[in-house]
Amino acid sequence: MSAGPSRIANPLDFSKPGRQSGHLLVPADPATGAPQQRVPIVTIANGAGPTVLISAGNHGDEYEGQIAALRLINEIEPSQVAGRIIVVPIISSEASRANTRLWPSGANFNRSFPGNPDGPPIEQLAYFFSTVLFPAADVVIDMHSAGRNGWIVPCSHMCVPNDPVQRKAMLEAMEAWNSDFHFFYTSVGNYLPNEAERQGKIVVTTELGGTTRVPVAVQDMSWNGLTNVLRHFGVLEGKVITRASLGLPPATLVDCRFDDGRIGNVGSGLFDNIIAPVTGLFEVMVEPGSPVTEGQTVGRIWSHDDPERKPTELKSPFTGYLMGLRTLPAVEEGQSLALIGTRIDRDALLAER
Ligand SMILES: [Zn+2]
Repeated sequence: MSAGPSRIANPLDFSKPGRQSGHLLVPADPATGAPQQRVPIVTIANGAGPTVLISAGNHGDEYEGQIAALRLINEIEPSQVAGRIIVVPIISSEASRANTRLWPSGANFNRSFPGNPDGPPIEQLAYFFSTVLFPAADVVIDMHSAGRNGWIVPCSHMCVPNDPVQRKAMLEAMEAWNSDFHFFYTSVGNYLPNEAERQGKIVVTTELGGTTRVPVAVQDMSWNGLTNVLRHFGVLEGKVITRASLGLPPATLVDCRFDDGRIGNVGSGLFDNIIAPVTGLFEVMVEPGSPVTEGQTVGRIWSHDDPERKPTELKSPFTGYLMGLRTLPAVEEGQSLALIGTRIDRDALLAER
């Protein structure tokens, strides 16, 4: 990482108690003509306790977490807090308004870490996260979903760190979301969570459904999960809720780390456990969150051009759970269609060396 100072102007003083609100200013980019960007940021602080950084809108078309973060800013008062909550509710307002995953420049914020103070604006902002926000935080929560063209079983998930103490703390924080499923992913090293984990932070990430309609149940789950994680760390007042206290069975843990040669890697393409062999209309035959067996037909693709043609069947490459899929039925040959993972035991994950 470059050693220079961040060029992002930050109007907030993180050492001050109470509520502060303002905008980070990301400089205009003379190389592309991109204007200065304003990134909303709020702190709610009171007394001693951990610092939790919450962000959403890393990808613009993933709205569930953006709404939960805005609600948090509006509903939480400093008197309810022990420690400090820093909220960046919509990292790219431009991408959110445009309903795009990527920034207007075409760059992916979640592939821009640790960032560069002398790079394009998106890398400058990533560098600000890496050198100012992460060091200020004990816990980093970054909320995602599958965006406008996909659906992932609403859940919290994590990129598994090597350090067993950090891994256990992250697992417990992930579980505080109380979703029915959680999954583990591999990423290639330049993601936001990668850099936060390298700095030893407890990192929680989410996939809160997706597509263009946010079900009320998903928004409730986002809110309940986010506030319960804050209670889990003692930064927000109130009793911690567990699945057991709700009368629910333990969550299903699913391994989506594909280091063992199976096709697919969440790091390269979200849904690439099944790749469309032809262009056509994708019919889904298994609901996300369902168990699947190796060779089971999970969907099929119909021809636009030849109504007599039999559909092309799509089979699960292994036994596990269908965790997510592309929801837009019009698909093209080579597109990634499904995310499938295998069940993993909690103790086995914790015992990995
Ligand atoms: Zn995302």
